Amino acid sequence: MSYTEEVYARVVEQNPGEYEFHQAVKEVLESLEVVIEANEEEYRKMALLERLVEPERVISFRVPWIDDNGQVQVNKGYRVQFNSAIGPYKGGLRFHPSVNQGILKFLGFEQIFKNSLTGLPIGGGKGGSNFDPKGKSDNEVMRFCQSFMTELSKYIGADQDVPAGDIGVGAREIGYLFGQYKRNRGLYEGVLTGKGLTFGGSLVRTEATGYGLVYILDEMLRHHNHTLEGKTVLVSGSGNVAIYAAEKVFQLGGKVVSMSDSNGYIYDPDGIQLDIVKDIKEIRRGRIKEYVEEVPTATFKEGKGVWTIPCDIALPCATQNELGLEDAKALKANGCFCVCEGANMPTTLDATEYIQQNGMLFMPGKASNAGGVATSALEMSQNSMRLSWSREEVDERLQRIMKDIFAKTAEAAKRYGMEGNYVAGANIAGFEKVVAAMKAQGIV
Ligand code: GLU
Repeated sequence: MSYTEEVYARVVEQNPGEYEFHQAVKEVLESLEVVIEANEEEYRKMALLERLVEPERVISFRVPWIDDNGQVQVNKGYRVQFNSAIGPYKGGLRFHPSVNQGILKFLGFEQIFKNSLTGLPIGGGKGGSNFDPKGKSDNEVMRFCQSFMTELSKYIGADQDVPAGDIGVGAREIGYLFGQYKRNRGLYEGVLTGKGLTFGGSLVRTEATGYGLVYILDEMLRHHNHTLEGKTVLVSGSGNVAIYAAEKVFQLGGKVVSMSDSNGYIYDPDGIQLDIVKDIKEIRRGRIKEYVEEVPTATFKEGKGVWTIPCDIALPCATQNELGLEDAKALKANGCFCVCEGANMPTTLDATEYIQQNGMLFMPGKASNAGGVATSALEMSQNSMRLSWSREEVDERLQRIMKDIFAKTAEAAKRYGMEGNYVAGANIAGFEKVVAAMKAQGIV
């Protein structure tokens, strides 16, 4: 067994039932094989991989709160502080019924490499709860957030661990969480990102993940002699990432014809009208099927069939493992030549392999959705300086960061003889910086 295989087997054995975490580790270790082999003796001696796959700390706590009927509810809360070699832990909070320790460990692990790729000084972390904000009143969400932060505030800080949003955690939740942190700790500091603009938030943070995704997509397309002009694009999801990815695709001349949520997907051959989607999702907090009530020429179908629609480019922006092998085959059969991940690990391992082996372009989420966390790091910088940059300044920095991520990813893949394999490139480039820092800091 090679060193990477040994470490993977150990991860599976020591983290039973944490399938998404196993999957994320497998993808990273497999593509690092060449780098590890070249340094095997040294890495083994320092147990470098064993340390890399073990979170520095996992905090798990009870979150009791009172619903609108006076009933006490109890949820699980977590923060995974995975790796602080290159900066304070940084990564979102996810509130969704599917959240468990394994999901947060997969997300925290991915975050280490993603954050490293941004070139900014941020370590990897992730947190959240199995609380479901769907169908809850504003007051219930506030009481939940306050209880969650009462416990979490003991473990985070502007130079220690800086959470942000993820699925189920947007501007409303960040506001309540920030208010409670300030009240508990008596500190007005940049402890959370994605804050409102009146209390330390950064312009462009809301749009950053989606915009960043399309900036790197555009860069990759140009590198392969394509542009977005006139391309038909599938987007899945209808949250923050999906909405602003779609907005940027339209701005760059492409046409987005689909969006989805957990009930099903809409198809609008004339191009999705984003003002309607924003109204449904951001204002009414409704379901995507309501779109067809306002656009009768569009259709809504229940279930997961979004990838069966013919397209040139697919942008999975919903959640992990939403694009499987059969979906990848359908995309290829219908003419799709490029998949760029907006969500974290939306493509299964076999689907990724199929896409790469069938000559389609593929950019993994840890490179292509890094614009969100990169702009969070820009928010941290602005908070530290007690300054706010203009929209143009932040957007320009974001564009530069995404171009730089593409360049690093392409270069690392090429350096190891895997030109065009952006999965390997992103993992290698992200890993190199983290490992150099870990080596320099000794056995910690
Ligand atoms: N949740 C986002 C991600 O997956 C953003 C994290 C952050 O801004 O800290 O990268």
